[in-house]
Amino acid sequence: MLHLSTEAIILQTTDFAEWDRIVSVYTKDFGKIRGIAKGAKRSRKRFGNALEPFTHNEIFFVEKETQGLVRFERCHIINMFTEMAHNLRKVIYGSYFLELVNTMTPEREKNSEIFSLLLFFLNLLKEDGFREDLMRIFELRLFSLLGYQPQFLSCTTCGHEFRVEERYRFSVKRGGIVCSKCLNKHPNLLPLSNGTIRIFQQAQNLTLLKIKRIFFSPSANEEGKMIFGKFLEYHVGRRPKSLDLLDQLR
Ligand SMILES: [Zn+2]
Repeated sequence: MLHLSTEAIILQTTDFAEWDRIVSVYTKDFGKIRGIAKGAKRSRKRFGNALEPFTHNEIFFVEKETQGLVRFERCHIINMFTEMAHNLRKVIYGSYFLELVNTMTPEREKNSEIFSLLLFFLNLLKEDGFREDLMRIFELRLFSLLGYQPQFLSCTTCGHEFRVEERYRFSVKRGGIVCSKCLNKHPNLLPLSNGTIRIFQQAQNLTLLKIKRIFFSPSANEEGKMIFGKFLEYHVGRRPKSLDLLDQLR
């Protein structure tokens, strides 16, 4: 039996049996793990509010074997992100971040960059003036960290580098742009302008700290939303629930 601790962000908490809760967390040192918090449903003595989604904790847990649920022992809250609770839009944006990480990451595969990305964007959400186009950057960066980096630098069919004089579309199946000469080889291509492609190229390259310098035009945001929505459905196998909530907000 191993006693372990790490920083973690609570992704999802569900009631389990009479007294317990099952909690999914993304950790800095172990990737996504799921565990049981014994007695957490009945009494708040041990965990308090620490198991609420979004909460950034130091968690202490026991691992019996390398598969299955761990047992959460206690948590030390680092940040609750309570500022967000008063703003429905921000709660839904944040829920979307949590849902994507929860559904797209494999269990127990360490990726500290995904942890940092999630924490960085939850902190961005706390700030005034969070813009919807920042969601596109989160999507793009998460895809890349998961190994699905969409290709915007060259045509995914003939390999020719992106040129401003050329026209492109996006292929979900190929995972990137397709130039006008290769259009006929692929069905179901999505439209996107060269301006949007260039914003995506920048968004893939900049360090996180500089990410707020990128501004999407409304049309680039719409194109990105359509493309990444389809790209997500293709890789996850279904549309994320929080995307429907986001649409209802608009
Ligand atoms: Zn081509």
